[in-house]
Amino acid sequence: MNPPSSVYADFNPEDYGLPNEQEIASWISGYTALPSNSPRAQPITEGVHPVIVAEQNARDSHTRAYFSDEKIGRIDTPLALRRVGSRSLKNIREDFPILAERIENKPVIWLDNAATTQRPKQVIERLVQYYEHENSNVHRGAHALAARSTDAYEAAREKIARFIGAPDKEDIVYVRGTTEGVNLVAQSYVKPLLNPGDEIILTQLEHHANIVPWQQIAQETGATLRIAAVDETGQILLSEYARLFSKKTRFAAFTHVSNALGVITPAEEMIAIAHCFGVAALVDAAQSVPHLPINVTALDADFLVFSGHKIFGPTGIGAVYGKKTFWEAARPWQGGGNMIADVTFERTQYRAAPAKFEAGTGNIADAIGLGAALDYVSAIGLAHISRYEHDLLEYATKTLSEIKGVRLIGRAAQKTGVLSFVLEGRSVEEVGQHLSKAGIAVRAGHHCAQPILRHFGLEATVRPSFAFYNLPEEIDALARVVRSLA
Ligand code: PLP
Repeated sequence: MNPPSSVYADFNPEDYGLPNEQEIASWISGYTALPSNSPRAQPITEGVHPVIVAEQNARDSHTRAYFSDEKIGRIDTPLALRRVGSRSLKNIREDFPILAERIENKPVIWLDNAATTQRPKQVIERLVQYYEHENSNVHRGAHALAARSTDAYEAAREKIARFIGAPDKEDIVYVRGTTEGVNLVAQSYVKPLLNPGDEIILTQLEHHANIVPWQQIAQETGATLRIAAVDETGQILLSEYARLFSKKTRFAAFTHVSNALGVITPAEEMIAIAHCFGVAALVDAAQSVPHLPINVTALDADFLVFSGHKIFGPTGIGAVYGKKTFWEAARPWQGGGNMIADVTFERTQYRAAPAKFEAGTGNIADAIGLGAALDYVSAIGLAHISRYEHDLLEYATKTLSEIKGVRLIGRAAQKTGVLSFVLEGRSVEEVGQHLSKAGIAVRAGHHCAQPILRHFGLEATVRPSFAFYNLPEEIDALARVVRSLA
């Protein structure tokens, strides 16, 4: 659904043939099918709750999209023969110079990919090429190097748009990363919509980057946050989420993949439910864009944000996708050069998006590096990547769950390659330190997602997280250390 108006406070669902609050309430308490003119109308089995149907659809589509094909040869295949798509693992690993590094005289085992990924030499070399042959400010200079750097900067924007299925490269705004992207949307688009008593919907799974910016604007305007609950596996309870929406709801923001647990949320259904109430939704794709094929158009996402460093690109660069109507309605959040059409001392005219939200000199080199990272990932293929990582996850889940005293947190059916666990009788820090001594890098702490860990009665977990260059043997090494501590 396209946003009918940028001012949701005045939105009346019935004007657009959408269900009103009472109808939504009746789906939830009764068994009425989604109205046939709903953008998400599905054939509903008689007597089955529509939100349950949406839940089932979400489950099926994830299974179909990512995991149903036959398994790639794994544990019993020699390393050199193991493949991700058409590339052998051995060959892929050679692209990542840091994987040859030794820690404590042992080969580094990088299982901290949810915090940041490693960079292939294709990205590193692209940065060197930029600084050696193209470096200039963009958009302003009328000389050859300015043209080179502008072309490369804008080509990277185009690659981002293509990578996430955005209709137009102008829908992509460069930011420092997911955190800055969420802040931009909160300040530029959502804050002006808020009045005292209005509500923003989040979920229990959120990273602090998708909590604090909303809390800040809520405190400034008198709005409140409403939080969607998860079940015992860490999956969103869609019916609970749907129940939170009302005429007071102005915006919804949720993570596509929980960084603490790896749970994949039913994003398409969550967006559709928000749209039934005329509410726009932001998807935090920091942990999904690197691991799952994403298409913002198919998702019908209003905003989607991600960070370059989690997808094998540089730090300090990320992107926000926004639908044109929303970018037009949003106000600039920072002022300065590049974003203006005309300035006098009395008033400023702004350029259209994306320039309107990109004041000052951007992170040109790293944007170009991000473009190179997306080329790299595309050449391997996200469908292959997600399938291989799913195999790793299954193997790691089985291996760790067999160790006495290990408690795995968040065992939802749909997950990316993230495991979160605690070990009876050992502190999280102790496990992290022992792993580090063995050259194994994992995250041990609260993962900037304290609410979801506290929901499970914990302050911290050990979190190994995988990427397509990881090997089952690395999981074996992790398990050996954990077993020795158990
Ligand atoms: N959202 C999620 C789900 C994350 O995992 C992270 C980082 O771990 C962030 C947001 C913040 O990303 P960044 O620190 O790159 O801005």
